[in-house]
This record gives sequence, structure tokens and C-alpha cells, in this order.
Amino acid sequence: MPGFEFFGEEERKEVNDVLETGILMRYGFDAARKGIWKSVELEKEICNTFGSKYAQLTSSGTAALTTAMAALGIGAGDEVIMPSFTFVASFEAVLSIGAVPVLVDVDATLTLNPDAVKKAITPHTKCIMPVHMCGSMANLDALQQICKEHHLLLLEDACQSIGATYKNKYLGTIGDAGTFSFDFVKTITCAEGGVVMTNNESTYVKCDGYTDHGHDHKGVDRGADLHPFVGYNFRISELHAAVGLAQIKKLHQFLAIQRKNHTQLKNILSQVEEISFRVIPDETGDSCTFLSWFLPNEAITKAVVDELKAQNILAGNFYWYANNWHYIKQWNHLKQAATLHNLNDAQKAAIIQLQTQDFSVSDAIMSCCISTAISLLWTEDQIEEKGNKIVAAVKKVLNKKMVEI
Ligand SMILES: *Cc1c(COP(=O)(O)O)cnc(C)c1O
Repeated sequence: MPGFEFFGEEERKEVNDVLETGILMRYGFDAARKGIWKSVELEKEICNTFGSKYAQLTSSGTAALTTAMAALGIGAGDEVIMPSFTFVASFEAVLSIGAVPVLVDVDATLTLNPDAVKKAITPHTKCIMPVHMCGSMANLDALQQICKEHHLLLLEDACQSIGATYKNKYLGTIGDAGTFSFDFVKTITCAEGGVVMTNNESTYVKCDGYTDHGHDHKGVDRGADLHPFVGYNFRISELHAAVGLAQIKKLHQFLAIQRKNHTQLKNILSQVEEISFRVIPDETGDSCTFLSWFLPNEAITKAVVDELKAQNILAGNFYWYANNWHYIKQWNHLKQAATLHNLNDAQKAAIIQLQTQDFSVSDAIMSCCISTAISLLWTEDQIEEKGNKIVAAVKKVLNKKMVEI
């Protein structure tokens, strides 16, 4: 799954280019950097690879989401519809720009349920933010249709789905803006970093300024730059961009390995009639970072998780339902509005009511789901062994449950 599994000579070479000049910052020092512009090069490579008109690197995927929302003009009084299953960064970013996160149910795609989205629309809704979890996509046709009908923005959080496509377009390039994360465990990594992609020039220019204190970047001298608006510092460093530049050149190799390993593992798990798989709106576009599969009910799923643990083979298999980072059930800090600074009243009211909001539709899906991370390093023999062990554990639980019934 993550690029750190394939780290080597190429990354060292790119980083060394930067170390040779000692210019670690992406802006300025034009003469001293001797033509080394890793961030600019990586942005160009991102545009070429994913077919986005513009790309703005940031210091993290979370910063990319915040930047995209600011550039799209989302702020105080606006509601952003997002899924109950995502990484905490999604609501952190919404709160950071003063907007209200509206959490709704997921469906068997493990992403936004379009019907739940429709029901959550109010006069304050400004944006729909699908999160393409675990390497695969939301039903973008349905969501785009809703955006069109209600004049809403579509912001794709594609942080976990670098290289996945929907109807031949890369995730993250389909909405008004989209983001990737290049943190250490993502498909390609910079150690820390992210990007906003957009096809809209004005949105891009705003992202460019926002990530660097509002600088307009029009002058040759940073000191002489104008500041048309208030920004922030979400800059990536040249060292991080250098790592990303080496990694993006390996992306297609990573994807090919992931897809091959995913197919082999899925074939093995398919032997068990009681196992079903995640619904994928465009199967050929799955980046295959994870194989996500379902068992018939919560009790069986929990027993399988316990069995995998008992056999010491749980590592790499994620039961998000009980996980602290990815699902509404355990986000007590959010539900209690445990922030260090005062939120605005609309934000506070919206997150406190999450304590009583009904997420039974999401619960029914997430409580039966296990996602197996696909490693780039597995051999065919290792996949066969892993797959067979999972199958044996599932069969053991199913047989026991049959006896209990
Ligand atoms: C990783 C991730 C982010 C945030 O990225 P960071 O680079 O770690 O800040 C945002 N959304 C999702 C779905 C992620 O998985």
C-alpha cells in the first residue's frame, strides 16, 4: 500500500540535489538554488500524471483540505456535508475555516450515501465533500447531479485514493477541487505533504497565495509581493517535495503491483460464500490499496476479528468500526466539542447534536466490514498463505456460530 515500502536510491538522489544547494525553501533564493525547484517540478508532474490543470502543494493533506475550502470561499455559516466514515482530518479542516461539518451515512461503497446527502441539504449547505476511502471511489455521478441541482460545490478528499479513477478520470480532478495527502502511509509519500488540484485558475491562484501568507508571487523579490488577502503558512519544503518527485515516478508501478496482489487475495476470499465485497462504482478504477470485505453480521465480524487476533494475523486487517480515527462511533472529542479555542455557535450546536444523531445505517455497514491493506512487498506465496489463513479463520467462526444457532 504505502510508498515507503519502495524507498531507495531515487529518493536519495532527489533529496541530495536539494542538499547540494542548501536551499530548503520553495520560494526565492533564485541564484543560490542553481536551477533546483523540486516543488515546482512536482506540481508539474502532478498535473501531467493526473490530468489536472493546476496543482498547489501544501505541508499536509489536512492543510490541502483547509486551503481548498478557503479558496472555494467556504466559511462561517456554511455547511459541508461529509461522511461518517473518514479520517479525522475531514472535520478538522471544516472546523478550521469556521464552517459546520454535517455528517451523514455511508453506503456499501464505504463513502457518501447519495440519498443521505440529499436529506441533509439545507439553505446553509455550500459544499459536498465525498471522501474516497481505502483506495476506491464514491458514486460521483450521483453526487455531481445533486451538486448541479442544488448549486453546491464538490470537494473531493482523495487523500487515500491516489491513482484511482472514475470513468477514466483521476479521483481528485473531477470536483471543483480535490486533495491528496502524501503523509507517510499514503500511496506515494513525501514524509509529510499534500496537494490541492483544480481546473479553475482563480481557485488555484487563491490556493497559491493562501499557503504562503497571501503572497501574490508576482514579484521577483518576496519582500515586494503584494497581499491581496490574508493567508497562512501551509508551505511544503524542498526536501519533502524532492521525496515526492521520486515517488510519483513510481506510482504506476505501485498501482500495477497493488492491483495484481488485490486480485489474488480477492480470488482466495471469494471461496467463502458468506464473504461479500465493497461496492465499487467503477471497478476498473479501484487503486486497490485495500481489499474491503463484509461478513453477514456484526457478531460474526467481531468473532472473526478476535480469531485473527488470537492467531496473530490481525496486523494489516482493519476493523474501522472499533477504530478511534476513522469512524463517528469513537469520535468522542468531536461529539463533546473538545476544542482548545471557542467555536462559533453554529459549529458547536452541530457537533454536540452528533451525540444523538442516528447513524444506524452506517453502523450496519461498518460493523460488518474488514479492510485488508495490500502490501507492495508480498510474494505470491505470502498472499496465498495470508488468504488461506483468513479463509480458515472465517470458516472456523462460521462453523462455531452454526453450532450456537
Ligand atoms: C491522510 C488523510 C488526510 C490527511 O492527510 P495528512 O497528510 O495526514 O494531513 C485527509 N483525509 C483522509 C481521508 C486521509 O486518509
